[in-house]
Amino acid sequence: MKLLHQANLPYLQFATWPANGRVQHAVFTRQGGFSPAPFASLNLSVSVADEVERVYANRRRAYGLFGRDSDTVVHAHLVHGNAVTAVTQAQNGTWVPHSDGLITNEPGCALTMNFADCTPILLYDPVQHAIGLGHAGWQGAVKDLPGAMVRAMQQQFGSRPGDLIAAVGPCIGPCCYEVGEPVISAVRAAFTDNQTLLLPVPNGRSARPHFDLPEANRRCLLRAGVQQVELSGCCTACRTDLFYSHRAEKGKTGRFGAMVVLMA
Ligand SMILES: [Zn+2]
Repeated sequence: MKLLHQANLPYLQFATWPANGRVQHAVFTRQGGFSPAPFASLNLSVSVADEVERVYANRRRAYGLFGRDSDTVVHAHLVHGNAVTAVTQAQNGTWVPHSDGLITNEPGCALTMNFADCTPILLYDPVQHAIGLGHAGWQGAVKDLPGAMVRAMQQQFGSRPGDLIAAVGPCIGPCCYEVGEPVISAVRAAFTDNQTLLLPVPNGRSARPHFDLPEANRRCLLRAGVQQVELSGCCTACRTDLFYSHRAEKGKTGRFGAMVVLMA
């Protein structure tokens, strides 16, 4: 990923995504907003105890990067599932219920979601001109939310998985993601090659393995036929200067955003 700035707003973009003027995307950081600690500063979620007015000011600044505001983007009510919903601008300013995957092929439609350790999944089909945005923590990975997004784009937009450009955004990395049950059993059941996803702790401080969440999501995408996947290389728990981390900050934190816009 590359770190860019517009005025006081830093944001990240994936290097492999084309600058063809037909798609725009950004992963925001926690910097550049108005909220005080522990939500400092660009918290985009009202699901935490931040002041609503500040959250809306933060959204105006973040979504304003692409000329949008909270009522001109489609949001999702995230539930750690694998449901994927096709949306249009008719859903602008609304929260699509119980959906961790949003897809659209309507030019002008903008998708956004919020994160604090779970994985942003971004998809772009340059052939059928369609996009997707997903949210996958360990539950989304074992339930194959990334694969469900690919299949939904196939079924609804005629996308070919091999045409898709995919990105796995900043999430908690294997360096920091110690897991116990039920995560271990679920990962073993969901991935045949799970030994390389549940990693032994290098110095033996703990008997509990570390889960490689970004790699698990990448494997979901590859299994669904996607060939081009860029990993962010960023761990949210290592970089609480840049991101919110539910694990590292013991739940007292905000949510950073990711956004994908299909250009008209
Ligand atoms: Zn880490």
